[in-house]
Amino acid sequence: MSAEPTIHRGACLCESIKYEITTARPSARLLCHCRDCQKSTGSAFATMVAVPKADCRVTQGSESLRSYALSTTKSGNTMTRSFCTKCGSPLFAGTTKYAGSVTIINAGTLDDPTKWPPVLEVFCTNRMEWLRPLEGGRQFDEEPPRHQ
Ligand SMILES: [Zn+2]
Ligand SMILES: [Zn+2]
Repeated sequence: MSAEPTIHRGACLCESIKYEITTARPSARLLCHCRDCQKSTGSAFATMVAVPKADCRVTQGSESLRSYALSTTKSGNTMTRSFCTKCGSPLFAGTTKYAGSVTIINAGTLDDPTKWPPVLEVFCTNRMEWLRPLEGGRQFDEEPPRHQ
């Protein structure tokens, strides 16, 4: 089980910003239906994978990356979301909940977005009513008691 960590790559829509993940397996793979994720993605929910911060690095275009921090989140944690200033793609998020030790990646920006399918759903109280629960996934009305 000590295989070399594979490098997974991703980029924003305009490909100004590129990043690499060197982790064997994300610590969380989830869908978030909260209003903040709906707003910031412009979509029905956010598809995210969480990795240790040290395992994700921007390899190109960091000067195009801007962040927006929001402290009035439902969970009470400050959520900092980073996006490309050229194309607007939301790329990363971080939360004070993990003291900045975790990088949350918007999975749609991965070069292979099917690599890590979601296994849990959070803030299901805000799930669009035309959307079915994720089959085989675990659902939480808000946040899970503990991320794993
Ligand atoms: Zn871009
Ligand atoms: Zn959310």
